[in-house]
Amino acid sequence: MNSIVVFCGSSEGSDAKVLSEAQLLGQTLAASNITLVYGAARIGVMGQVAQGCLKAQGKVIGVIPDFLMLREVYHPNLSELIVTENMHERKLRMHELSDGIIMLPGGYGTLEEFFEMLTWAQLGLHAKPIGILNTNGFYDELMLMLKKMVMQGFLKPENYDMVLVDDTVDGLLAKMKSYVPIPIPKWLKKRQV
Ligand code: AMP
Repeated sequence: MNSIVVFCGSSEGSDAKVLSEAQLLGQTLAASNITLVYGAARIGVMGQVAQGCLKAQGKVIGVIPDFLMLREVYHPNLSELIVTENMHERKLRMHELSDGIIMLPGGYGTLEEFFEMLTWAQLGLHAKPIGILNTNGFYDELMLMLKKMVMQGFLKPENYDMVLVDDTVDGLLAKMKSYVPIPIPKWLKKRQV
Protein backbone atom coordinates (compact mmCIF):
# COMPACT_ATOMS: atom_id res chain seq x y z
CA MET A 1 0.00 0.00 0.00
CA ASN A 2 1.35 3.40 -0.99
CA SER A 3 -1.45 5.53 0.38
CA ILE A 4 -4.31 5.18 2.83
CA VAL A 5 -7.38 7.36 3.24
CA VAL A 6 -8.39 7.86 6.86
CA PHE A 7 -11.96 8.78 7.81
CA CYS A 8 -12.51 10.02 11.35
CA GLY A 9 -14.24 12.63 13.49
CA SER A 10 -14.03 16.35 12.98
CA SER A 11 -14.64 16.43 16.76
CA GLU A 12 -12.22 15.17 19.39
CA GLY A 13 -14.69 13.04 21.32
CA SER A 14 -14.17 12.21 25.00
CA ASP A 15 -11.64 9.34 24.98
CA ALA A 16 -8.01 10.53 25.11
CA LYS A 17 -6.87 7.12 23.81
CA VAL A 18 -8.70 7.81 20.54
CA LEU A 19 -6.56 10.91 20.02
CA SER A 20 -3.28 9.21 20.94
CA GLU A 21 -4.08 6.28 18.63
CA ALA A 22 -4.90 8.73 15.84
CA GLN A 23 -1.45 10.32 16.32
CA LEU A 24 0.14 6.88 16.40
CA LEU A 25 -1.57 5.90 13.16
CA GLY A 26 -0.23 9.06 11.49
CA GLN A 27 3.28 8.33 12.79
CA THR A 28 3.13 4.70 11.70
CA LEU A 29 2.01 5.63 8.19
CA ALA A 30 4.93 8.06 7.96
CA ALA A 31 7.38 5.41 9.17
CA SER A 32 5.99 2.92 6.62
CA ASN A 33 6.26 5.42 3.76
CA ILE A 34 2.50 5.37 3.26
CA THR A 35 0.90 8.67 2.21
CA LEU A 36 -1.97 9.81 4.41
CA VAL A 37 -5.02 11.06 2.53
CA TYR A 38 -7.69 12.69 4.69
CA GLY A 39 -10.25 15.47 4.95
CA ALA A 40 -7.68 18.28 5.52
CA ALA A 41 -9.02 19.51 8.87
CA ARG A 42 -6.75 20.80 11.64
CA ILE A 43 -9.39 20.00 14.25
CA GLY A 44 -10.78 16.84 15.85
CA VAL A 45 -9.46 13.32 15.43
CA MET A 46 -8.68 14.32 11.83
CA GLY A 47 -6.18 16.93 13.02
CA GLN A 48 -4.43 14.41 15.27
CA VAL A 49 -3.81 11.87 12.49
CA ALA A 50 -2.34 14.60 10.29
CA GLN A 51 -0.23 15.97 13.13
CA GLY A 52 1.20 12.52 13.91
CA CYS A 53 2.12 11.95 10.29
CA LEU A 54 3.59 15.43 9.67
CA LYS A 55 5.67 15.32 12.88
CA ALA A 56 7.24 12.10 11.64
CA GLN A 57 8.00 13.70 8.24
CA GLY A 58 5.25 11.79 6.47
CA LYS A 59 3.39 12.87 3.34
CA VAL A 60 -0.13 14.15 3.96
CA ILE A 61 -2.66 15.03 1.27
CA GLY A 62 -5.77 16.89 2.46
CA VAL A 63 -8.93 16.97 0.34
CA ILE A 64 -11.62 19.48 1.29
CA PRO A 65 -14.52 21.22 -0.46
CA ASP A 66 -14.08 24.99 -0.51
CA PHE A 67 -17.24 25.66 1.53
CA LEU A 68 -15.80 23.63 4.45
CA MET A 69 -12.35 25.22 4.53
CA LEU A 70 -13.24 27.65 7.29
CA ARG A 71 -15.76 25.53 9.16
CA GLU A 72 -13.46 22.52 9.46
CA VAL A 73 -10.39 24.75 9.94
CA TYR A 74 -8.20 23.40 7.16
CA HIS A 75 -4.65 22.46 8.04
CA PRO A 76 -2.22 25.05 6.61
CA ASN A 77 0.92 22.86 6.61
CA LEU A 78 0.01 19.79 4.61
CA SER A 79 2.23 18.33 1.91
CA GLU A 80 -0.62 18.97 -0.52
CA LEU A 81 -4.06 20.55 -0.22
CA ILE A 82 -6.71 19.69 -2.80
CA VAL A 83 -9.77 21.94 -2.81
CA THR A 84 -12.86 20.44 -4.42
CA GLU A 85 -16.14 21.98 -5.52
CA ASN A 86 -18.36 19.70 -3.46
CA MET A 87 -18.57 16.66 -1.15
CA HIS A 88 -19.01 14.18 -4.00
CA GLU A 89 -15.87 15.35 -5.73
CA ARG A 90 -14.05 15.21 -2.39
CA LYS A 91 -14.92 11.55 -1.84
CA LEU A 92 -14.06 10.62 -5.41
CA ARG A 93 -10.64 12.33 -5.18
CA MET A 94 -9.96 10.56 -1.86
CA HIS A 95 -10.85 7.26 -3.50
CA GLU A 96 -8.63 7.95 -6.53
CA LEU A 97 -5.68 8.90 -4.31
CA SER A 98 -5.72 5.92 -1.95
CA ASP A 99 -5.25 2.18 -2.05
CA GLY A 100 -6.54 1.40 1.42
CA ILE A 101 -9.22 2.76 3.75
CA ILE A 102 -9.22 3.15 7.53
CA MET A 103 -11.98 4.42 9.80
CA LEU A 104 -11.30 5.77 13.29
CA PRO A 105 -13.96 6.93 15.76
CA GLY A 106 -16.17 9.72 14.45
CA GLY A 107 -19.75 10.78 13.80
CA TYR A 108 -22.19 10.82 10.87
CA GLY A 109 -19.66 12.18 8.36
CA THR A 110 -17.16 9.44 9.22
CA LEU A 111 -19.75 6.68 8.87
CA GLU A 112 -21.06 8.11 5.62
CA GLU A 113 -17.61 8.25 4.01
CA PHE A 114 -16.67 4.79 5.27
CA PHE A 115 -19.88 3.11 4.17
CA GLU A 116 -19.74 4.65 0.74
CA MET A 117 -16.27 3.13 0.18
CA LEU A 118 -17.54 -0.15 1.64
CA THR A 119 -20.56 -0.27 -0.65
CA TRP A 120 -18.33 0.47 -3.65
CA ALA A 121 -16.22 -2.55 -2.60
CA GLN A 122 -19.35 -4.66 -2.13
CA LEU A 123 -20.34 -3.79 -5.70
CA GLY A 124 -16.91 -4.83 -6.92
CA LEU A 125 -15.97 -1.29 -7.99
CA HIS A 126 -12.69 -1.55 -6.09
CA ALA A 127 -10.80 -4.20 -4.13
CA LYS A 128 -8.95 -2.12 -1.55
CA PRO A 129 -8.51 -3.30 2.05
CA ILE A 130 -10.97 -1.60 4.39
CA GLY A 131 -10.15 -1.38 8.09
CA ILE A 132 -11.60 -0.16 11.34
CA LEU A 133 -9.31 0.90 14.17
CA ASN A 134 -11.50 -0.17 17.06
CA THR A 135 -9.89 1.79 19.88
CA ASN A 136 -11.36 0.84 23.26
CA GLY A 137 -14.15 -1.06 21.47
CA PHE A 138 -15.67 2.13 20.01
CA TYR A 139 -17.16 0.21 17.07
CA ASP A 140 -18.19 -3.00 18.92
CA GLU A 141 -21.90 -2.15 18.61
CA LEU A 142 -21.53 -1.30 14.93
CA MET A 143 -19.97 -4.73 14.31
CA LEU A 144 -22.87 -6.32 16.21
CA MET A 145 -25.29 -4.47 13.97
CA LEU A 146 -23.47 -5.75 10.88
CA LYS A 147 -23.62 -9.31 12.28
CA LYS A 148 -27.36 -8.89 12.77
CA MET A 149 -27.62 -7.89 9.09
CA VAL A 150 -25.84 -11.14 8.17
CA MET A 151 -28.07 -13.20 10.49
CA GLN A 152 -31.22 -11.69 9.02
CA GLY A 153 -30.06 -12.12 5.42
CA PHE A 154 -29.39 -8.48 4.51
CA LEU A 155 -25.62 -8.79 4.26
CA LYS A 156 -23.59 -11.61 2.69
CA PRO A 157 -21.04 -13.20 5.07
CA GLU A 158 -18.24 -12.57 2.54
CA ASN A 159 -19.13 -8.87 2.48
CA TYR A 160 -19.14 -8.80 6.29
CA ASP A 161 -15.64 -10.32 6.13
CA MET A 162 -14.44 -7.45 3.93
CA VAL A 163 -14.32 -5.26 7.02
CA LEU A 164 -11.01 -5.75 8.83
CA VAL A 165 -11.12 -4.80 12.51
CA ASP A 166 -8.34 -4.48 15.06
CA ASP A 167 -7.77 -2.48 18.21
CA THR A 168 -4.11 -1.78 17.46
CA VAL A 169 -2.54 0.22 14.65
CA ASP A 170 0.07 -2.44 13.84
CA GLY A 171 -2.47 -5.26 13.99
CA LEU A 172 -4.81 -3.44 11.63
CA LEU A 173 -2.11 -2.54 9.11
CA ALA A 174 -0.88 -6.16 9.12
CA LYS A 175 -4.41 -7.39 8.34
CA MET A 176 -4.75 -4.82 5.57
CA LYS A 177 -1.40 -5.76 4.00
CA SER A 178 -2.33 -9.44 3.82
CA TYR A 179 -5.95 -8.85 2.71
CA VAL A 180 -7.02 -10.99 -0.23
CA PRO A 181 -10.04 -9.37 -1.93
CA ILE A 182 -13.02 -11.44 -2.99
CA PRO A 183 -12.95 -11.88 -6.78
CA ILE A 184 -14.71 -9.16 -8.78
CA PRO A 185 -17.59 -10.59 -10.86
CA LYS A 186 -16.77 -10.72 -14.60
CA TRP A 187 -19.66 -8.49 -15.59
CA LEU A 188 -18.29 -5.71 -13.40
CA LYS A 189 -14.66 -5.80 -14.44
CA LYS A 190 -14.82 -2.83 -16.80
CA ARG A 191 -16.91 -0.66 -14.49
CA GLN A 192 -15.51 2.24 -12.57
CA VAL A 193 -16.89 4.37 -9.74
P1 AMP B 1 -17.92 13.74 11.45
O1 AMP B 1 -17.64 12.27 11.62
O2 AMP B 1 -19.39 14.04 11.34
O3 AMP B 1 -17.22 14.61 12.43
O4 AMP B 1 -17.34 14.12 10.00
C1 AMP B 1 -16.07 13.72 9.59
C2 AMP B 1 -15.78 14.18 8.19
O5 AMP B 1 -16.81 13.70 7.32
C3 AMP B 1 -15.77 15.70 8.03
O6 AMP B 1 -14.64 16.05 7.26
C4 AMP B 1 -17.03 15.98 7.25
O7 AMP B 1 -16.88 17.08 6.38
C5 AMP B 1 -17.19 14.73 6.44
N1 AMP B 1 -18.58 14.55 5.98
C6 AMP B 1 -19.72 14.90 6.60
N2 AMP B 1 -20.80 14.57 5.88
C7 AMP B 1 -20.35 13.99 4.74
C8 AMP B 1 -20.94 13.46 3.56
N3 AMP B 1 -22.26 13.43 3.40
N4 AMP B 1 -20.13 12.97 2.60
C9 AMP B 1 -18.80 13.00 2.76
N5 AMP B 1 -18.17 13.47 3.83
C10 AMP B 1 -18.91 13.98 4.81
